[in-house]
Amino acid sequence: MIGSRLPVRRRSSRVAIATALAALALFAGLPAASSPAAAQQTSFDYRLAPQRIADGVYVLIGSTEDFSPANGGNIVNAGFIVGSEGVIVIDSGPSLRYGEQLRRAIAAVTPLPVVLVINTHHHPDHVLGNQAFPPATLAALPGTRSALETEGEALLENMYRLTGEWMRGTETVLPGRALAAGPLEIGRRRLELFVLAGHTDADLAVLDVATGTLFAGDIVFWNRAPTTPHADIAQWLQALERLERVPFKQLVPGHGPVATDAMPIAQTRSYLAWLERTLREGAEQGLDMTEMLEQEVPARFGTLDGAAAEFRRSVIHLYPAAERAALRSR
Ligand SMILES: [Zn+2]
Repeated sequence: MIGSRLPVRRRSSRVAIATALAALALFAGLPAASSPAAAQQTSFDYRLAPQRIADGVYVLIGSTEDFSPANGGNIVNAGFIVGSEGVIVIDSGPSLRYGEQLRRAIAAVTPLPVVLVINTHHHPDHVLGNQAFPPATLAALPGTRSALETEGEALLENMYRLTGEWMRGTETVLPGRALAAGPLEIGRRRLELFVLAGHTDADLAVLDVATGTLFAGDIVFWNRAPTTPHADIAQWLQALERLERVPFKQLVPGHGPVATDAMPIAQTRSYLAWLERTLREGAEQGLDMTEMLEQEVPARFGTLDGAAAEFRRSVIHLYPAAERAALRSR
């Protein structure tokens, strides 16, 4: 089945308002004031410069900031793999403009056609460039598609609110091709797909077998605090354990620089374990949400961009459930 478009026109109902409010809570962030990147805004040029990190493997490393009009939503890592008969794209970026510019960046590297666009999960910075690619190439886990079907419109509206004009013309396009765990050969390139969960209900990691490059999606953040709007931390920790057993040579996290060791996995695990413990102990001690929001992030996580802001968001996302669990165990 080919990709289909969600209706983007406003549903003039309380549902639309409720979903928009939900998105606000999920991806809260403040628009930045004028910045050095302001010049980029006038041309809406993401200046995508693919870096070759292995034979046929390219990455586009986004910033580790929050969404803002200065960065146009380019806070994400995308990548592509050039097989001998076609190109596999991993994540399509935050907007139609990004998707179009990614296509041009790919075309500057190879004349081969894009044969597959993988969405690692349903978050807007990973999927909203889909529209720039042939619908039949769009692929994801079934859970990613259904989450996008349910939440795509609210996530899209929130991106318009946070990044403005960069989003012009962007619509949510659902991936029509269902992916599953295991080997996949496409464009005469062998991939191994890992079906995980924890950052969202459906997270995909992709190993390029020839080069040992692991695209970890948002299961792994590196020197950037993990975001948790759809997180299940227990599942996420299990997913990290699974990825640690993958014999990769280099690792492309969803956010942050490329690594050649498992340090990003260890860092993500350490932060999530601390977050889980902090929320649980706070709830057990009967702290209220305001008291939790005042907690400091330990100095050892000082190298993680956005740590203080993400911790506060995580308290809002996850503390009510921690409080319920503490009540039940009393
Ligand atoms: Zn994400």
